Amino acid sequence: MAKSKGDIETRAEVILKGIAASPGIVVGPCYLCSHLNWQPEPQVVDPANIPTQIERFRESVERTHRELQKTYRTTREQFGQELAEVLEMQVALLEDQFFLKEVEDMIAANKVDAAYATFVVFRKKKEYFLKMSNDYFRDRAFDIQALKEMIIRNIAGSAQSCLEDFTPGSIIIADNLSPNDTVALHQKKVLGVATNAGGKMSHTAIVARSLGVPAVLGLKNITERVQTGDVIILDGNSGKVILNPSDRTREQYETQQEKFLEIQQILLEECAQETYSKDGRRIFLHANIEFEEEMPHLLSVKPDGIGLFRTEGLFLNQQEMPSEDQQAEIYSRVAEQMHPKPVVIRTLDIGGDKIVPGIATISEDNPFLGWRAIRFWLDHQAGFVMQLKAILRANIHGNVQILLPMVSSLGEVLQSKQLLEEAKRLLKKEGKPFGEEIDLGIMIEIPSVVILADILAREVDFFSIGTNDLVQYTLAVDRGNEKVAKLYSHFHPAILRMVKTTLDAGKYAGIPVNMCGEMAGDPQAIPLLLAMGFEHLSASHMTVPHIKRIIRELSLPECEELYQAVKSLELTEDIISCVEQFYRERFTSMLGETQ
Ligand code: PEP
Ligand code: MG
Repeated sequence: MAKSKGDIETRAEVILKGIAASPGIVVGPCYLCSHLNWQPEPQVVDPANIPTQIERFRESVERTHRELQKTYRTTREQFGQELAEVLEMQVALLEDQFFLKEVEDMIAANKVDAAYATFVVFRKKKEYFLKMSNDYFRDRAFDIQALKEMIIRNIAGSAQSCLEDFTPGSIIIADNLSPNDTVALHQKKVLGVATNAGGKMSHTAIVARSLGVPAVLGLKNITERVQTGDVIILDGNSGKVILNPSDRTREQYETQQEKFLEIQQILLEECAQETYSKDGRRIFLHANIEFEEEMPHLLSVKPDGIGLFRTEGLFLNQQEMPSEDQQAEIYSRVAEQMHPKPVVIRTLDIGGDKIVPGIATISEDNPFLGWRAIRFWLDHQAGFVMQLKAILRANIHGNVQILLPMVSSLGEVLQSKQLLEEAKRLLKKEGKPFGEEIDLGIMIEIPSVVILADILAREVDFFSIGTNDLVQYTLAVDRGNEKVAKLYSHFHPAILRMVKTTLDAGKYAGIPVNMCGEMAGDPQAIPLLLAMGFEHLSASHMTVPHIKRIIRELSLPECEELYQAVKSLELTEDIISCVEQFYRERFTSMLGETQ
């Protein structure tokens, strides 16, 4: 990439404002992750080396072909022909000798390297498909783009992730992180994350929070303003990134960071005790996790259970779907470590911003309204039953519950219950030990199930409110789109009413209602949730210590007073000012500006 723009060259301090997606302050070098828009520079090739370049291209095509064939076979076995067909177009293109020859001809005629020739020929092909009037063919343009990236990657001999050459201890700068790259965050020593795109509730933000990696998203053009090696300050508390920080600014931030860590340490030490409000109401504070590797930190914050185990992490970045045994082992280990406290395992919630390569790769016009989560599993019952069997097997090692994501109707619950029975029947037949008594709950994250909560409460053992999606689907605001981020708020009066309606419906039917969306980890929302009557909350394990402290400091009458004031307000902004003011007055001097 060319030397970055004026900001870095003039060394003037520049503050970029984005979305505070994961708390913490870091100062360190950048790692620019730019493969998404990567354009190889043409390399002039000596005529003697043209055959070598052509050979490199052919080898890379063969390797890509083998990779695709493998993904195709796995997809067909696990999910059936229909899903595998999406890959057929890519395989067919790689077998089209006429098309491949275009790349070889370009290498020979223009004396350029294999990567550049692939880039140009595939781009032309992509543009050709993009101009077609038929939707099906237009969509194929993205298959061509994916294919182009795979081949170029194989020519370069580099692997899948844009983080492949990541230098540990750096701050990742990217346009957006793919779910695969996001999942890879937990294997790398990542100091922080700053992206052009993304919102507070995007998958990247949630994973960064659960891994304790400070993040600022939605910075619009940070990839154009820095380059690898530039030292920046990333402030995930206030959502700022500072380029070319002066020594004075660095010192200020380092002091702030020390204070932040000191407070975190104190809060962590307090975690050993159970959580009661100041006037004695017991609140069960559970933790959310995504990867088994988070367990040591999760156990250190002593939650009352795991309120949400997102299982997508097991499926992302895998060539093949994890087997029943592999899943059972992981779920069992987690259940065992928490025993006797409960572990709520959510069945696969892919789709939307969580695409699993080789399993669900179909591009949809409206992925968040598309073939997601329970809808996908109900269409691929073999995979769904396999996961249910693994969860049932883990239930003998602990206290496990099943949670179904993105339920929108009673029919989906009834069908899932039948499949649960089928999973039990198969386990009996196979003679595998499992825990037959298991609670089944649903996520409340779509408005239709809030309206039908009384009916659904008769069919399930518990509700868990997923505010991240409930806000998105109720307010019609994409949770990951920075352009509409200002419209996304769980303090919208409609959301507050829906949350209360769900809680009341659950209480009336005598089933527990938990909240596992990010609202439960928002310190400013806690007084409202206590006033509404929540006794079970589940937040990212990174925020559990903070939330425990907030609950301990609050008494029910003051929460009730705030809630009554909020209920009289009709504008989201007024509600936000009201809860912010309450938080500032009660907590800022005690806890600093950590949220
Ligand atoms: C939610 O939607 O609130 C939720 C907890 O699920 P996820 O963030 O995984 O979609
Ligand atoms: Mg959700």
